[in-house]
Amino acid sequence: MKFFIKTFGCQQNVADSERIASAFKARGINPTSSYERANYVIVNTCMVRQSAEHRVYGLVHNLGKIKQQKQKKNEFFKIVVTGCMVGIAFRDKSGEFLKTIRKRMPDVDEFMPIEEVGFDLESIRVNQKHALVPISNGCNNFCTFCIVPFTRGREVSRPFEDIVNECLNLKNKGYTEVTLLGQNVNSYGADLLIGENNIQKTRDLKKTYFQKKDLAHPRVKIEFKLNGEKIEPVYVKHLGRYRIPTLFPYLLEAVAKLGFEKIHFYSSNPWDFSDELIEVISRNKNITRTIHLPIQSGDNKVLKRMNRWYTKQQYINLINKMKKKIPEIAFTTDIIVGFCGETEKEFKSTVEVAKEVGYKKAYLSIYSQRPLTAATKVMNDDVPHAVKKQRWQYLEDLINKPYLEQLRQSN
Ligand code: SF4
Repeated sequence: MKFFIKTFGCQQNVADSERIASAFKARGINPTSSYERANYVIVNTCMVRQSAEHRVYGLVHNLGKIKQQKQKKNEFFKIVVTGCMVGIAFRDKSGEFLKTIRKRMPDVDEFMPIEEVGFDLESIRVNQKHALVPISNGCNNFCTFCIVPFTRGREVSRPFEDIVNECLNLKNKGYTEVTLLGQNVNSYGADLLIGENNIQKTRDLKKTYFQKKDLAHPRVKIEFKLNGEKIEPVYVKHLGRYRIPTLFPYLLEAVAKLGFEKIHFYSSNPWDFSDELIEVISRNKNITRTIHLPIQSGDNKVLKRMNRWYTKQQYINLINKMKKKIPEIAFTTDIIVGFCGETEKEFKSTVEVAKEVGYKKAYLSIYSQRPLTAATKVMNDDVPHAVKKQRWQYLEDLINKPYLEQLRQSN
């Protein structure tokens, strides 16, 4: 028996596929490099953009034809769909989404939630030098354009020591680079249960990292400690409650100290980029100097409509703070053009930020409506497609063209 995995979407999906491969291998099923030779084809789906969703439907349609041919020859062939599409289907209590995807992909034998794969088995990695290491899954932020909180659910952090042990293992096996992955790596550890006095409590970090104790904070009855150091809960204005601060700086430093040549992390958010994190990056030379910091839009009104909790100025201040502390630092970003109601003036605001920051590279996307999101429910997708394309091209020429030219010259 053989399996083949087709992965759509982000690095998180690639990392998930490495764990899926491991689960199939554990069942005595081996990898193959073609759909035709496989007995199981696993399609790991992405729904971040409409185009990715359509590519999945197209592929599954073609796999249906292979299935028919195989069935004629009495050969075993199963199509398994997993990833974002299945995540959304299993979280949609009405069952409507599952019905829709079943109807659109009648040849699929199994819709498998990615959570079924777990973290117990060691990933089968294609790259033997650079490993992807998921540290959390899901997101609590609900940016109005984004489907991730619906496809992957709420943020769940992996235990601190599991991640450090996995990285230690990778180091011992000769890996030289790791990328720590999550939808919001720099909110790692803050995805916690609500405790006493509306304060979030740790879920799965072991007592070695946290100790519960009464203490002095006016509204706080719980104290957390990480390796003996006290961690004060912080008030998060946009959430309207206290929570322990993100543990990402501690985790990043623990991984950096294992001695990899390079540690990357992806993706981070402007509102969780703490001073401690900047300190940790600055004092550990093996942590990447290229930071991915999605801005999505450089205009305050658009950011508000997007439910992103920073202003253009706060974002620029953060960038400048990092540039000052770490002079060799460079930035990449994500930008959406043509978000609901985006005017020419608002777009120009994004252009201004791009010029001021001097991004090394930008992942540009043209806004498209995604099911269940607030933008789809209550806003109008009213920027004409031709205008969206023009804006996309403008930023592509401004940011990415020089980058591609530089790459071409260095090759
Ligand atoms: S932070 Fe916003 S854009 Fe990023 S995954 Fe969460 S909801 Fe989506």
